[in-house]
Amino acid sequence: MQPTRPRFITKIYPALVVAALVASQALCRPMTLAATPRRAPEVATKSRVPAPRDVLGFTPGDDRKLAAWAQIVEYFKQLDRASDRVQLEELGKTTLGRPFMLATISSPENLKRLDRFKEIQRKLADPRLINSNDDEANKLVAEGRTIVMITCGVHSTEVGGNLVSMNIAHRLASDDSAETREILDKCIVLLVPSLNPDGVDIVKNWYDKTLGAASEGTAPPELYHHYVGHDNNRDWYAFTQIETQLTVDKVHNVWHPQIVHDIHQQGETGSRFFIPPYVDPWEPNVPPLIQAGVNFMGSAMAWELAAEGKRGVVINGVYDAWTPARAYQHYHGGIRILSETASARIASPTNVPFEKLTPQVNVDTRVRSWNFPMPWPGGEWRLANIVDYMQSGAFALMRNAARYRERWLRDFYQIGKDAVRERKPGEPFAFLIPPTIGRHDEGDAGWWGTVGLKRIVSILRRGGVEVFDAESAFEADGKQYPAGTKVIPMSQPYGAFAKTLLERQHYPDLREYPGGPPRRPYDVTAHTLPLLMGVDVARVEKAFTFAKAPGELDYFISHTDYADKPRVGLYKSYAASMDEGWTRWILDQHRNRFSYRSVTDPEVRTGNLRARFDCIIIPDQNARQIVEGLSKERYPAEVAGGLGEAGIASLKKFIEDGGTVITLNDASEFAIEHLGVPVKNVLKGVPPREFYCPGSILKIELEPGASLAKGAPLLKSVGESTLEESIAWFETGPAFEVTSRDARVVARFASEPKDLLLSGWLLGADKIAGKGAIVEVKRGAGRVIMFAFRPQYRGQSTATLP
Ligand SMILES: [Zn+2]
Repeated sequence: MQPTRPRFITKIYPALVVAALVASQALCRPMTLAATPRRAPEVATKSRVPAPRDVLGFTPGDDRKLAAWAQIVEYFKQLDRASDRVQLEELGKTTLGRPFMLATISSPENLKRLDRFKEIQRKLADPRLINSNDDEANKLVAEGRTIVMITCGVHSTEVGGNLVSMNIAHRLASDDSAETREILDKCIVLLVPSLNPDGVDIVKNWYDKTLGAASEGTAPPELYHHYVGHDNNRDWYAFTQIETQLTVDKVHNVWHPQIVHDIHQQGETGSRFFIPPYVDPWEPNVPPLIQAGVNFMGSAMAWELAAEGKRGVVINGVYDAWTPARAYQHYHGGIRILSETASARIASPTNVPFEKLTPQVNVDTRVRSWNFPMPWPGGEWRLANIVDYMQSGAFALMRNAARYRERWLRDFYQIGKDAVRERKPGEPFAFLIPPTIGRHDEGDAGWWGTVGLKRIVSILRRGGVEVFDAESAFEADGKQYPAGTKVIPMSQPYGAFAKTLLERQHYPDLREYPGGPPRRPYDVTAHTLPLLMGVDVARVEKAFTFAKAPGELDYFISHTDYADKPRVGLYKSYAASMDEGWTRWILDQHRNRFSYRSVTDPEVRTGNLRARFDCIIIPDQNARQIVEGLSKERYPAEVAGGLGEAGIASLKKFIEDGGTVITLNDASEFAIEHLGVPVKNVLKGVPPREFYCPGSILKIELEPGASLAKGAPLLKSVGESTLEESIAWFETGPAFEVTSRDARVVARFASEPKDLLLSGWLLGADKIAGKGAIVEVKRGAGRVIMFAFRPQYRGQSTATLP
């Protein structure tokens, strides 16, 4: 869910999908099967399959009723016991220790042969394992099942997802219609009732506590994922969080689903339901067959929903398909079908009059158009509507997964074949990562560089990529590479996943209309790991040979426990900031180097901070939010209000007394407005038409010998330049000009505008070229250090973490 912004784009969509849909109708025929045999005699005597109401005491979708995670787990346990179509598994524990669950749902016959179906998937995903004349593949395609993964509730305030998971499971387990039997027979459904079980309880506890109060229906005053909040759905290549790791390791990589349905909610006032096709741009490494499959499936679902009379369904609006952070499956042979249902106020009804409906990218929600054939008339919208749309969407998806079983499997095999074919001239043959130690400066830079290298290799391996070690030195593209160089050939099943993460992104210059302002991407525009992690990588186009080392050559990283760790306070606003969570995660990962605790508004306001802290970090957050916090009208007193005047005075005193305040990205604006630093933000008031950078990697130049930058792996080590250069993760941040000698620029954005952008998208480079990126301001006995970027971006930019 993201706030909707008015933007109008017209677009012509090919009639191909419609033609395919009409043609496909002929293939759809109901199936009749004999009664399902029971898997064990005692099961036959079991009572009927329980409905969610039998366990919860209410029906999912009832107004003002949320289920606790324990109740959802209990429902699935009872379903598992009562039905021979459901197998429940605990895959592991979440960040806060709750069980993370997977329900595998299919016909009893299929469930007996899961190992065989996994084997079929493994071979079709990697055609190197079968003979090349397609005979074996044809047999596997004939025998296999469509693997459909349905993930719910990654965003915990989007409460319909975890509730509808029970309805979906119940209908699959209890319904004996021809349609459901066809789904069970031809598909294996992998249902994850919540990708964030901790958040189910965080949201329910807050919602129940505030029922009947002014804060009923508000978001909780904390992140709904312990570390990363809403960004938990931006972790599908960095794999930083336990929940992402469990899903990738134990579902995606075991099953290689052809279809993944990710159930979400959007804002209250837009379309009622979004499904793909996505809007452009698509990340260019995604295979064309995935793109075509997404377009077909979304359009087919929308067609079925129209037949059910569901109004307000939009396709080809709002959401693009650029970042792999939301789409692991697009690089692993599977389509991602995102659905976004309009929200209510958590579980409380809302009312949206027709004239209050707001436009979204590529759709005016009050006007009928080709991609929005049945506008919604406005009015009451409640949890029951949400659950109903979600369930209809999921069943439309499963019906098309079953009907076109053979097609999904054949495409999946074809994608694998394309991935392992020989590379053509002009295509990269391999990427090489030479060993880091010895290339960076001694000491910390070598340490952080090695951390980066190890993380890149582990990310690629977790993503199924084969990474080899060269046993001895070798030559490629006329250059010598030492023993221990990591070799990542492109001809392998998930080579495209490696390629997109290792190369630089060139985001297209999209405008709302020709010559108009930039069209905002749905998420960020860059994901080049070697830049983010301070690691050298080479792209090689010509074929070469090298000797593979028999085992893995590892690089030693010492874990020095630093004796004189500064006492860090990490500012934590009740208007929860994801960047705060990411900072906390990073500090928790490096406890040998940092010691910190969180500090909230009341503690800052109380004062006497210097006695407790040497340094206070204020993560990326809008200045007004920092000062004003949550609304006093809607939120209870203990969490309402921000730093206020008392908090600002207390921070100023802390600095005078010798403390250091570090502000990240937008929080630097807070320092400018409230801490009296002699620094100007040159981007203040500059319209997007003149400057725009929505999440890209930029080049910065460090002042010679700057002690603040000590320990950072530098770009010069990758042969970029003789200057001391590094990167900045820039995402709608400020850029500084100092106005007094008390302020010193420690790092600037690259002085040549044409050199500034390393990966992603940037408009108006001249506006910030040569301007301050890190500024240090002396005040009394202390100082303020201001970053114009996020040095710890989503736990990925370890190049600037030191
Ligand atoms: Zn969402």
